[in-house]
Amino acid sequence: MSAESVGEFRSRARAWLAANLPRLDSDDAMVLERDELASWRRARELQQKLYDAGFAGICFPREYGGLGLGYEYKKAFDAEALAYETPLLLNVPSFAICCATILDMGSEEQKRSHIRAALRGEEVLVQLLSEPSGGSDLAGVITRADRRDGRWIINGAKTWSTWAFAADYGLCLARTDWDAPKHNGLTMFLVPLAHPGVTINRIRQVNGSVEFCEEFFDDVDVGDDAVVGEPGKGWEVASRQLYHERRTMGDGSEYTSGPGIAEAEDISIDLLSLVDRSKQGDSDRVRELVGRALVHRAVHGQLSEHVFHAVAAGTLPPAAGSIIRLDMAEVHNVENDTAHAIAGSAAVVEDDARLLDVGTRYLGRQIASIGGGTTEMARNVIGERVLNFPREYAADRGVPFNQVRRGKAAEGGQK
Ligand SMILES: Cc1cc2nc3c(=O)[nH]c(=O)nc-3n(C[C@H](O)[C@H](O)[C@H](O)COP(=O)(O)OP(=O)(O)OC[C@H]3O[C@@H](n4cnc5c(N)ncnc54)[C@H](O)[C@@H]3O)c2cc1C
Repeated sequence: MSAESVGEFRSRARAWLAANLPRLDSDDAMVLERDELASWRRARELQQKLYDAGFAGICFPREYGGLGLGYEYKKAFDAEALAYETPLLLNVPSFAICCATILDMGSEEQKRSHIRAALRGEEVLVQLLSEPSGGSDLAGVITRADRRDGRWIINGAKTWSTWAFAADYGLCLARTDWDAPKHNGLTMFLVPLAHPGVTINRIRQVNGSVEFCEEFFDDVDVGDDAVVGEPGKGWEVASRQLYHERRTMGDGSEYTSGPGIAEAEDISIDLLSLVDRSKQGDSDRVRELVGRALVHRAVHGQLSEHVFHAVAAGTLPPAAGSIIRLDMAEVHNVENDTAHAIAGSAAVVEDDARLLDVGTRYLGRQIASIGGGTTEMARNVIGERVLNFPREYAADRGVPFNQVRRGKAAEGGQK
């Protein structure tokens, strides 16, 4: 039997979507509340439907539950799925960052069990990287995993973990060798979050969101099967994870499904509807502002495509994912500022236009410049690893981690 063409696949997806998933403009669609468990349950159900119908994990290999198809099939499905309610919540970080990292770095057993379970909607995975003592210096983590009776005992704290409250497993970077230089003493673990030693608290942000969690690990004991990659090689796994994270933040991952960050209606700003709501469609100033923002968005789409294909073809290094990560934040800022300029005082004082959501959203303006690694760090990566500028001086390079000077917050983690 000859392989299905992209066009045939797209027609089949169109028919299936129309018959099986709620249209976003219908009463059957559920309003997406990212902080609510009900939305997560719904996402898992929708994902199971996609899996059963043979539309899940379009670019994941068949042996791990995916379809093993190319990027153009994913793009075709995404275009058809725009009008429908899809399990958007599972895209990031579960599929595009965590499953992608397990695919590249995990054991055969991890790939077979966790990727398939995620694609069936049975497992959600999150990232446990940042710590209270800092996030940018990821190789400086002080959560520790000690070897005891053939097991790994994890103690420490993580923070800013998006969606951990709704997840089953977390990719957790921990220090396993304090005598080695900081990049060499790390191990990546896939930790079950239902473990009795894991305490998860939710963190409320200024814009009201409680997507973030902090986790405390008290003698969390896991076996060798929880190690992703090899003990002491956690930095290799983390580097791959960051690679997937950066291009995902720029909407350049083949492992997402349905609308990307740019199109997800609760994330991107619908400036045209804002113009309507504020009744400023005749204003030249507003038209110019919106036109500028839309051009930024369109250029970002082209840039993402270009970088995706250039990295795949080897003409740009994987670190080039930071280019789209950086540009995503720039576009987000232009859109946010444009929305705020259009709404004016209505963004902060209730009036007939009802535009307070613009003001609330503005409170989270910096999110795009911090989440997924800050834009400052992205600039460093582009400078050092894409443009090959000299590396920044680091006083701790090559120094055993237990001899590196650290602030007070870090002292508790060391033996
Ligand atoms: C929306 C969102 C989602 C997130 N999701 C997760 C998640 O799921 N899992 C997780 O583990 N973390 C997550 N984070 C945390 C995020 O990864 C960290 O906030 C980020 O890495 C920055 O770390 P920090 O906040 O500790 O800032 P710090 O590292 O303390 O940095 C403070 C400031 O110093 C700058 N800086 C630091 N070092 C340098 C340098 N070498 N050169 C130039 N500037 C520098 C930074 O850019 C920043 O402006 C998320 C954050 C956000 C906003």
